[in-house]
Amino acid sequence: MEAMNEAARACVGCGGLVPAVVGPTHPYMQASAGCWQLYGEVGARWHGQPGAGLARWHHVDAYAVQHPGGAEHDRRQRQSVAVHLVALCLLLEGAHSPEQASARRGRTSQVVLGRLNLADWPYLAPPRDRGAVTVVDVHAASSQTQQEAPVYIKAWLESAWAAWKDHHATVRTWAATLQKVQP
Ligand SMILES: [Zn+2]
Repeated sequence: MEAMNEAARACVGCGGLVPAVVGPTHPYMQASAGCWQLYGEVGARWHGQPGAGLARWHHVDAYAVQHPGGAEHDRRQRQSVAVHLVALCLLLEGAHSPEQASARRGRTSQVVLGRLNLADWPYLAPPRDRGAVTVVDVHAASSQTQQEAPVYIKAWLESAWAAWKDHHATVRTWAATLQKVQP
């Protein structure tokens, strides 16, 4: 990535090298303020870009599963990790279009927990390595032409999903349960 004028430090979530700034963060996704700032800028760049469909619909999935800290103590975070992993599974393994995979998110908890008779999402111990591609890389890449954005977002999504390989079997069960209920 390009050299930054300000001091940088590793994000507490994804491990990417982010500006060491003080600022707002997400209420339960554990990220350093500099990382949250980069993510906001990435989302703003892709908003309304005709070539950025995959990015527009799914950047939140990659970001959420690369910032899973605190889930053992916070049910919102457990739900976030589970729902966004299911969305990545549907997108990358289920041959869903970005729009289809995204549209299922809203009902994932209701359908899967109900069908599997679970009171709540279980805690999935996060991988130590959150993936080689983070929002930091995507932030640097997305300042290039809009035609290149889908390439980088795809690498980011695949990297985030691959990092959770120890839990793929569990997530595939959830994704299959969701697919049985919704066409
Ligand atoms: Zn981060």
